[in-house]
Amino acid sequence: MKNLSLPRLLSAGLRGGRSSLRSNLLFQEGHMLSALRLCFTPLRAKSIRLSILLLIVALTLFKAHPAYGQGGVEVKDANVVVMFGQQITFQAQLVSPLPILQASILFRELNEEVTRVAPLQLGENNTVSFTYDASQNVLPPFSTIIFWYQVMLDDNQTYTSTPIQFRYDDNRFPWRASTSGPLTVHWYEGDDAFGQAALDAAGSSLAAMNDFIPLTLNTPLDVYIYANAGDLQGALQLGGEQWAGGHANPKLGVVMVAIPPGPSQSIQMQTAIPHELAHVMLAHALGAGYDRLPVWLSEGIASSVELYPNPDYDVALKSASQNDSLLRFADLCDSFPPDAARAFLAYAQSQSFTKYLHSAYGTTGLMSLVSAYTDGLSCDLGAKRALSMSLGQLDTRWRESELGQNVTGVALRNLAPFALLMLVILVVPIWGAVDIARQRRRRRGLEAK
Ligand SMILES: [Zn+2]
Repeated sequence: MKNLSLPRLLSAGLRGGRSSLRSNLLFQEGHMLSALRLCFTPLRAKSIRLSILLLIVALTLFKAHPAYGQGGVEVKDANVVVMFGQQITFQAQLVSPLPILQASILFRELNEEVTRVAPLQLGENNTVSFTYDASQNVLPPFSTIIFWYQVMLDDNQTYTSTPIQFRYDDNRFPWRASTSGPLTVHWYEGDDAFGQAALDAAGSSLAAMNDFIPLTLNTPLDVYIYANAGDLQGALQLGGEQWAGGHANPKLGVVMVAIPPGPSQSIQMQTAIPHELAHVMLAHALGAGYDRLPVWLSEGIASSVELYPNPDYDVALKSASQNDSLLRFADLCDSFPPDAARAFLAYAQSQSFTKYLHSAYGTTGLMSLVSAYTDGLSCDLGAKRALSMSLGQLDTRWRESELGQNVTGVALRNLAPFALLMLVILVVPIWGAVDIARQRRRRRGLEAK
């Protein structure tokens, strides 16, 4: 038996997260005691473990009699037993001044619009228990679940309890955590130095992002570091998400990455953490407009702030440029290719293209481009409004400037400002000389007369 991360059962309206459990266990006034239990069953057959954490928190009794408040029903001894990806069991005792005729539990993930409802059987002393099959009806990992009870009493009126919320953590692993400012890093393999290195990488990521495109992180953000790709894949699948090398959930303020402790941990931290953090920061800053960004731009920004640039991107770009197999950015607006090789090239191109736009048009140009897209302009029109050039023209300029294609064209265009200058330098004196000569001739003519 092994203690795992603390479950967080919170009264509604409080954010699940970094606040201490003791200060946040604010159940309905009048409750004396609340108990929480967390049950953990790993999925891997190798190490079958069952861990139960029982935490009893005593709260001060403010009133001699329970308050029924808005609901006419009080929830006592609320327990939530989570087996991540498998089931969630809600247990409580319902207390009311009148006999309870019917009871049900209602719950949803905090950002969901649909509320799940289940009827309840009343047990002895109106105790209730409901088990939700989280393997069939998945919930996102680390999301906040809010639940409440509804009863019909003997007066034929319906009453609702005060909502309670908790965080649906991936409790298959014994997470450790370290916090600095808005960032909390969680990990379960690796020592303190591993956690500190991850926290440092996350902190540097915020600075790098702010340098590239001025966005600051105003809300708390959690980075979960899985020890291997298999563990992360399991979490994403059990949470109903697509398999990916890393995952960012801006709504939850959660980033999930796989970084095994070892010699390459530093490189992986400096690559994966900034990339996923950038997605969350962009999404927070742009709100609903984030979804309107072309994929090449959101991935381009996220890849550009990676603290350890991927050396294979250059190789892929040069090879595709020589083979004339570069992808058109117009084809990377809505999605990236499904096959791994072309998807890799799409990331490489997006990073290089976004960096080129940043160096050619500066942060202001990049911000104008972002706002054109968040305003709803199409992939091509956004480029025209922000940078006065079509996406195709920008693509050509990028190929020429970064990949050395059409070098003569680049040279001519680069010479153009100098040619203009030369023209001004030469033409002005010539025109001046001609004018002086003309004036002299006119003067001589007048003298002759
Ligand atoms: Zn990405």
